[in-house]
Amino acid sequence: MEKKLVVITGASSGFGMELAKEFSNSGHPLLLLARRLDKMEALNLPNTICKSVDVSDKGAFEQAIREAEQVYGKTDLLINNAGVMLLGDLATQNPKEWKQMMDINVLGVMNGMQAVMGDMKERQGGTIINISSIAGVLPFPNHAAYCASKYAVRGVTQTARLELSPFNVRVIAVEPGAVATELLGHTTSDQIKDGYKQWMQSSGANRIQAIDVARTIKFAYDLPQSVLLRELIISDTKQD
Ligand code: NDP
Repeated sequence: MEKKLVVITGASSGFGMELAKEFSNSGHPLLLLARRLDKMEALNLPNTICKSVDVSDKGAFEQAIREAEQVYGKTDLLINNAGVMLLGDLATQNPKEWKQMMDINVLGVMNGMQAVMGDMKERQGGTIINISSIAGVLPFPNHAAYCASKYAVRGVTQTARLELSPFNVRVIAVEPGAVATELLGHTTSDQIKDGYKQWMQSSGANRIQAIDVARTIKFAYDLPQSVLLRELIISDTKQD
């Protein structure tokens, strides 16, 4: 059977890059989106369009999807994976960092959803997978705004599931635990970064890899369209 178009945001590193390789290995044409084009192009995947797009730019996000659909047909799977984590003490964190997380992590996800939902409803098929976080299920110190953004992603996902399931469209929330990627690198406080790294080492919850998350997501997508894994929490076995 001909494999359908998969759109992956945040494909220039971490989970998104592993997802791109996994879906490409099984023959899907891809649209990869992130700001760093060179990283995505370096993957050199067949039947793949890479575009430098900021997901908070609704128009550019939508346009990239429409252009890829001209080439590969309608989007069957959108993985809203792009995100930033700027950890900070709520008492002192610069509110610009709160806004950045809301714009990218929450509105970026909603921008992507709106770009594909109409077509999916019309053709009664398709899947949207939104990457929330275990920090969208549980609170953690220094995570106030990040938690707010990831709880919001879960809320949006669960609401969209109610709106789209009558149209046979699957909407899935994924809540990964801590995995070593570039994600921590954007936090501006060295003290918080060091504390996070120490916790990962001392807890032993540092064995899970981005590829494990990518494979789990692919498993959820590969189930029949009539079967919905609504929500999945995946973490290192040793994470609390
Ligand atoms: P990375 O930092 O490795 O990857 C994040 C990706 O998002 C990059 O490709 C980055 O690309 C992209 N991105 C960031 N901002 C934008 C933007 N404005 N527009 C387009 N793309 C953007 O982190 P992970 O792979 O770990 O994270 C992926 C997702 O998983 C995130 O949503 C994160 O919150 C979530 N997550 C991660 C966990 C972890 O421990 N690693 C745990 C739970 C959830 P570029 O900079 O080129 O734009």
